[in-house]
Amino acid sequence: MQTRLLINGKLVEGEGEALAILDPATGREIVRVAEASKTQVDAAVQAAAAAFDTFSRSQPKDRASYLHQMANVLEENSQELAELESLDVGKPWPSAHDDEMPLTIDTFRFFAGAARTMTGAAAGEYVAGHTSMIRREAVGPVAAITPWNYPLMMAAWKLAAAIAAGCTVVLKPSEITPLSTLRMAELFADILPKGVLNVVHGRGASVGDRLINSPEMEAIAVTGSPATGMAAMRAAAQQIKHVHLELGGKAPVIAFDDADVELLAQTIRYGSYFNAGQDCAQPCRLLVQDGIYDAVVDAVAKEVAQIKIGAQKAPGTQMGPVVSAAQLDRVAGFVDRARATSEVVCGGRRGNGEGFFYEPTLIANAENDSEIATQEVFGPVVTVSRFSSADEAICIANTGRYGLASSVWTRDLGRSMDVTSRLRYGFTWVNTHGVATPEMPWAAMKGSGTGCDMSIHALDAYTSVRHVMFSHG
Ligand code: NAD
Repeated sequence: MQTRLLINGKLVEGEGEALAILDPATGREIVRVAEASKTQVDAAVQAAAAAFDTFSRSQPKDRASYLHQMANVLEENSQELAELESLDVGKPWPSAHDDEMPLTIDTFRFFAGAARTMTGAAAGEYVAGHTSMIRREAVGPVAAITPWNYPLMMAAWKLAAAIAAGCTVVLKPSEITPLSTLRMAELFADILPKGVLNVVHGRGASVGDRLINSPEMEAIAVTGSPATGMAAMRAAAQQIKHVHLELGGKAPVIAFDDADVELLAQTIRYGSYFNAGQDCAQPCRLLVQDGIYDAVVDAVAKEVAQIKIGAQKAPGTQMGPVVSAAQLDRVAGFVDRARATSEVVCGGRRGNGEGFFYEPTLIANAENDSEIATQEVFGPVVTVSRFSSADEAICIANTGRYGLASSVWTRDLGRSMDVTSRLRYGFTWVNTHGVATPEMPWAAMKGSGTGCDMSIHALDAYTSVRHVMFSHG
């Protein structure tokens, strides 16, 4: 198993503390991976800084070629990478391969094209005797920080856009799920010039903190919790750095009386409990109009009761464990506190035996301002609550700090146009939830972050706009 870090083109063992990496289905150790020492973090930072001048001036077609090669090598090794992801995060097999690898690979292919499409305002004579032009340049060396729920895909979203823009990167995966990222680093080491990509392993408070506070890192890109987003903003505030944040979510699913209840219930079954609900866009907060409230609770409960939980490769497994003992306690705590004011329709219990299992859970009659309806649980838990009018639904959905994913369910086209235009969320699906494509932004509003991943708009985070003026005299 590849457990080395990538620093300045070389794979090296970490020189810090060895951290146990656990299989969430058993709680047992898979392997130990040594953190980067302070000296190694600094060496990775120096390598990215040293490589920046040359790489940022490379031709777009060369960067596109690197990105195509990266996509190809991921595709050739997709089975092994997905095996690591499944083992490390507890994802069911073959879903870890079939549902996640295509988007991860396609993200690199999309950015291979996007690297060659950067456009700006036309050059022109805005002052007599002078010609002005706009340039978009790589923002600088990037500190990229990724979470544990989709380790490889989140690394792909950060890395592909940064490379397309001409940035060099020091990437730190989550300390509990580094395995797929470390193997990816090994695969990419032979493709990219040395120093362009560096990967360091370790905890947020030590390795991550040192990385984002390094003066040479001119931009910080985080996918993670709001707390980590705040740490990035604090680091940026000390030294003035660019910050791109994709943080938590609490996606409302607004179902009007004319919604297709069966389709909605199936979407919840497959969307809300995918990855054991550990998904920033998870459709976790059903807001249902009075007329179909009971029908939705019944239909969703029927679907959820059929979800088969088990270890990654146990026959028929549809949902695996949550990622860690801490995450299990967090999820159970939310549900236990919700019992006093709402109804646990199904689930609500830890699994028997070893591993970090929690039953797929549906909670009805959740108060719209309760903790369970407004805080990110990040587990296999969905709440249902009521509304009467469109205005009320929009008001409930727009109250609170999160603004990432949302969906609207109605057969009335005019109403879907009206409601989607008034929701303060980075993205809104109509009559579906969770479908992603690299051409479209994974965008954040409010406390869910700044900017977006995927799409050509992701390049904004990794580029700066410049004005160059030529005097005719
Ligand atoms: P987390 O914030 O605990 O950890 C994310 C990363 O930040 C890890 O690599 C961690 O080591 C690092 N980190 C923690 N403290 C740090 C510090 N002080 N300095 C530098 N780095 C630090 O998040 P998590 O538990 O791994 O992931 C779950 C969170 O991620 C949820 O809130 C979820 O919604 C969010 N998420 C968002 C998106 C999105 O696209 N918006 C996608 C996936 C996950």
